[in-house]
Amino acid sequence: MSLRTNYCGELSAEHVGQTVTVCGWVDTRRVHSEHLAFVDVRDHTGIVQVVVDQKVNVRSEYVVAVTGTVAARPAEMVNDALASGAIEITDTEVTVLNEAEPPPFPMHDRTDVNEEIRLEHRYVDLRREKMQRNLRARAKINSAIRGAMERQGFCELETPMLIASTPEGARDFVVPSRMHPGNFYALPQSPQLFKQLSMVGGLDRYYQIARCLRDEDLRADRQFEFMQLDAEASFVDQEDVFTFISEAVADATEAITGERPTEFPRMTYADAMDRYGSDKPDVRFGMELTELTDLFAETESNVFKTPSVKGICMPGGADELGRNKIDELTDKAKQWGAKGLAWFRMKEEGLEGGLTKFMSESELAGVVERLDAKTGDMVFLIADKKRVANKVLGLLRLELGKPPVNSGEFSFLWITEFPLFEDVIDGNPIPAHHPFTMPHEDDVEKLKNAQGDEWLDIRSQAYDLTLNGWELGSGSIRIFQRDVQEQIFEILGIGEEEQMAKFGFLLNAFKYGAPPHGGFAFGIDRLTALLVGEENIREVIAFPKTQKGSDPLTNAPSPADPAHLEELGLRVLPREE
Ligand code: ASP
Repeated sequence: MSLRTNYCGELSAEHVGQTVTVCGWVDTRRVHSEHLAFVDVRDHTGIVQVVVDQKVNVRSEYVVAVTGTVAARPAEMVNDALASGAIEITDTEVTVLNEAEPPPFPMHDRTDVNEEIRLEHRYVDLRREKMQRNLRARAKINSAIRGAMERQGFCELETPMLIASTPEGARDFVVPSRMHPGNFYALPQSPQLFKQLSMVGGLDRYYQIARCLRDEDLRADRQFEFMQLDAEASFVDQEDVFTFISEAVADATEAITGERPTEFPRMTYADAMDRYGSDKPDVRFGMELTELTDLFAETESNVFKTPSVKGICMPGGADELGRNKIDELTDKAKQWGAKGLAWFRMKEEGLEGGLTKFMSESELAGVVERLDAKTGDMVFLIADKKRVANKVLGLLRLELGKPPVNSGEFSFLWITEFPLFEDVIDGNPIPAHHPFTMPHEDDVEKLKNAQGDEWLDIRSQAYDLTLNGWELGSGSIRIFQRDVQEQIFEILGIGEEEQMAKFGFLLNAFKYGAPPHGGFAFGIDRLTALLVGEENIREVIAFPKTQKGSDPLTNAPSPADPAHLEELGLRVLPREE
């Protein structure tokens, strides 16, 4: 039989007179009178005040069961901030179920505690209200996503963790094989190849809340291992994918915020780069990048004799940004790759600023008009190659205008027509998504004879979903014919032998009746963080790694037992200094 009759947070005036037992942790203890003390008992639902004899020896974080009578608090003692603030438990009998050492850090959300210490004692940290709220929100999101996928006819499938390498652009984590010494499994960077094989297998609509592992540098929005909704469907086009993924994301959002997002606008990659200088634009605010190159067609100044001149206007920025801030922004612009940053303030008495002397009257007037700059605004210009102007102004825009993560606004945006390749290294183009992405129908011809940077203009049938300036996930319509896949591998510099060694199983599968298919995956850690208003995904993961990739709780990673290494046929080389 359960030790408790009620949860702490659910007790209210309607329980007055009842005998109840609550269980939980001692949150605080305060002296009430000569003989009595107030103890706040906490469980995941909240806190309830219990009145105990001074002799009862409990301290912070002791685990207790308290039996007593629910009583209305005197009017002047009612605490509106607590769900159970109208009552307390009196005539109590307290059982200490377990003692506890003083907690390693204050338990209240207001305190800023060193992360290493929080993670070392994560089991204590998880008791904090914020962590409880975040993890329970995460569970709701998972459940909403499952519901949406099931409702849309998707079949859940578990794909293996010990596999051959699946390229997603990161390093693999590898696992040595004891039974095949000298051979290694890779942990999945994603279930990509298995989900495609499941389409060949006639599954029609697959989903999985999948764990993916990528060995890359960690950041606030990135962990070695992360969870994603992974989905794939046969006989679909991009529109179908947008529909079923938007449905899942809308359900998840509604489950947390109570409001269902209805707008999932689209923007092409080319537009996003032009207007926001980013493939994951934060469209919660304006300050769009504006094309000014034509205004400088006749310029006399070398500063503006560049392939591209673009600008942004910060409303009200003239008074807000002092000289020091502008110097700081100029340094940043240089770090981001610009040669310099031109700016001017729109003052009552006229324009004031750096580099205005390099612009003619008519150029200045043209810029003001094009940017719709008003008195009190601040204007920034970058003259450079288009790529640099976009990137630098895009970052500057975020620096100057980005709303906080918990703005309460959720702006989803699909980015379409991603380039097929993101770079060209040693003559070989590098895939922007992964090598299984179908080229854009209109650009297939260009694949035959592209040279140098021309590769970068070839579009694909890949798309991303972004939310408030974060990339939530990516997907694409896939290649499903063997000859097209071979052609892409060839272009990527993967020769026939390597193709067969690494992806022979996929190429073979394509011989046996592969249907057209496409899919998507979005990160559940990121979606949860944004929906609960956290900047760092570690705040929505129960047991995350630190930025350095270690776990202070279990001390992973740690040296392996020599006998184990022997059995695996492995020897660890001394570290070169
Ligand atoms: N496999 C991709 C990823 O994990 C998603 C997809 O293309 O469906 O990013």
